[in-house]
Amino acid sequence: MSSPAFIPYGKQSITEEDVHAVIQTLQSDWLTTGPKVHEFERDLAGYCGAQHAVAVNSGTAALHCAMAALDIKPGDEVIVPAISFVATANCVVYRGGTPIFADVHADSVLIDAVDVARKITPQTKAIIAVDYAGQPADYSALRDAIGKRDIALVADACHSIGGTDADGRKAGNIADLSAFSFHPVKPITSGEGGAITTNNAAYDKRMRAFRNHGIDTDHREREKQGAWHYDMQELGFNYRLTDFQCALASSQLKKLDTWVTRRAAIAEAYLTAFAEFDGVSPLKIFPAVQHAWHIFVVLLKDAGNRDAMFTELRRRGIGANVHYRPIYQHTYYRNAFPSSAICPVAEKVFPALLTLPLHVHMTNDDVRRVIKAVKETAEKE
Ligand SMILES: *Cc1c(COP(=O)(O)O)cnc(C)c1O
Repeated sequence: MSSPAFIPYGKQSITEEDVHAVIQTLQSDWLTTGPKVHEFERDLAGYCGAQHAVAVNSGTAALHCAMAALDIKPGDEVIVPAISFVATANCVVYRGGTPIFADVHADSVLIDAVDVARKITPQTKAIIAVDYAGQPADYSALRDAIGKRDIALVADACHSIGGTDADGRKAGNIADLSAFSFHPVKPITSGEGGAITTNNAAYDKRMRAFRNHGIDTDHREREKQGAWHYDMQELGFNYRLTDFQCALASSQLKKLDTWVTRRAAIAEAYLTAFAEFDGVSPLKIFPAVQHAWHIFVVLLKDAGNRDAMFTELRRRGIGANVHYRPIYQHTYYRNAFPSSAICPVAEKVFPALLTLPLHVHMTNDDVRRVIKAVKETAEKE
């Protein structure tokens, strides 16, 4: 008997329509900085209900643009959750700012607004919340923590496109600035890619320049005006996303709602299967929230068994994963920010975190295979 196929924790879905959209764009006059960029920005802003969207070439670039829009500079502090992908904190460091790590809730792994409130100082310029696993963070609680202070609220929404908060606001239209990633494991993909949404026209303008070296106009605008002159007003980067990637992203966006529905059905099967099983507990889900189900994370009862379970699941062809080690435990952060705060909940939760496969190509049989393997490996110890 051949061994069953490997089930990765996440995987892209590319349709014939996507392929056609990319080929059409490759055969057009514009490979980059052309009409597909504007079309995608319009589509994404429309989908989220935000006024502006700026396409860039990664989620990391999106976070960097958000920090530039807020003019984060040396001496500024930005509060970020202890548990996230490193890019959430790196974007602050790129600007010479200081990331201040806030703790997370043990049951949802979302940033804890009470700990955020404790860590606000006169130097705090922004808070970045992560919509961990695809569930929007509690932005109302974060607004309350900010009060009347001039502190911006940024969403690292790299997990949550397609999700909605308890007030019915779409991810991308909840915080002052929201960053998305279109890496292949994320809910929709453009290969590499990202975007920022905002309702603030000044942020939008600043980010458009920032993704294009800090130059005031782009190539296509100058072409239209028949002009060669441009001015570089501040230091920016080349963070532009190509037209064929934007064509892919627009085409993917059309399928997002259907895909979120399929992901939610798989998540529901996991939730039902683990409800009566005490080896693992799924993360807390808040009522009235539309979860985007980027990843399915469980907390292991026996945290000491996590790494053995990871290895055993992999041996059985189940692509388990871990999201994430507390950022300040990485060597770079230990060296660069040695006095980093300790986040006791994050440190306690991290060893118990395990991500199970969740993507639209999974069949119901795949889901049953994962459930069976998880139950057997969690019971072994
Ligand atoms: C994927 C991800 C990023 C970075 O996105 P890239 O497109 O890979 O640069 C940032 N934050 C979180 C939470 C992510 O999951």
